[in-house]
Order: sequence, then structure tokens, then C-alpha cells
Amino acid sequence: MNDIRIGQGYDVHAIADGLPMFLCGVQLDSPFGFVAHSDGDVAIHALCDAILGALALGDIGKHFPDSSDEFKGIDSRVLLFRVMELIGKDGWRVNNADITIALERPKLRPRIDEMRQSLADVMEIDTSRVSVKATTTEKLGFVGRGEGCEVWAVVTLVR
Ligand code: MG
Repeated sequence: MNDIRIGQGYDVHAIADGLPMFLCGVQLDSPFGFVAHSDGDVAIHALCDAILGALALGDIGKHFPDSSDEFKGIDSRVLLFRVMELIGKDGWRVNNADITIALERPKLRPRIDEMRQSLADVMEIDTSRVSVKATTTEKLGFVGRGEGCEVWAVVTLVR
């Protein structure tokens, strides 16, 4: 029988004016972006945590400390690629990923397929195995006030 693991990840980043906004490796047209040590791609961070969590390998902060200059402003796709290398060494691959992004604006729907493709490319799996969903929080809470973005990711790994 195949060895199967499930993992979940969660991340939040604050929003500030004048920063670039990256989600799932795609730069969005927005006058504000995410405050971070890296490029602030909160969706990729949640996804990395889900993958690491599936194998009980700790979290993204353990592998890529934000105290390190090496990761300052880094393209988060590089972090995801490194996580893929790490799990690949033991024969694991991502079977599927399902990501939910809570963000008030901009509207993500027009870019969703681009985001799925971007993640599928880094994980070297078919786009049909990558789900990216977007929601607002109906103006409630910090997401609703436009102060931050919240992302949940779930993955299954197989080998
Ligand atoms: Mg993060």
C-alpha cells in the first residue's frame, strides 16, 4: 500500500501601502502588498508549512529563519522549491494541494488559474492537482478591514 501523509498550514501577513503583492508566485496589480522579511507570499508560506507538517519536519521558520539575510526579500517560490527538494530526497511527492486565501481586495478570481499553474510548475505536478480558492470575510475582522491576508493550505503527500 502507498504511504500517504496529510498536512495543513496556516499563515497571515499584514498589508501595507506601496509594497508589491505576491500570491502563489504571481504578482498582483495592487497599490498595497504584504509586510514580510521575504517577498511576503503568504499563500506559498502556508503551502510550505502544510508540506513540512505532513512529514513532521517542523515549519517554514525553522528551515528559512527570518533572521537570516539569505532570505531577505526572497522569491517564495525558491522556498517552495527547497521544500520540494527536501521531501523528494525521501521519495515523497505532493499528491494534491488545496489552498484557501482570505483577502478583501484585490479580487483574485481573474488570476486564480495563473496561481494554480505557478504552484504546479514549482511542485512539478499537474495543475488539476492544485486548487486555489479565494474568499473575502464579508468585511469582518482584520481581513475584512483590509489589514491583512489569511491563508490555509492542505496537502496530501505520497510515496
Ligand atoms: Mg509568512
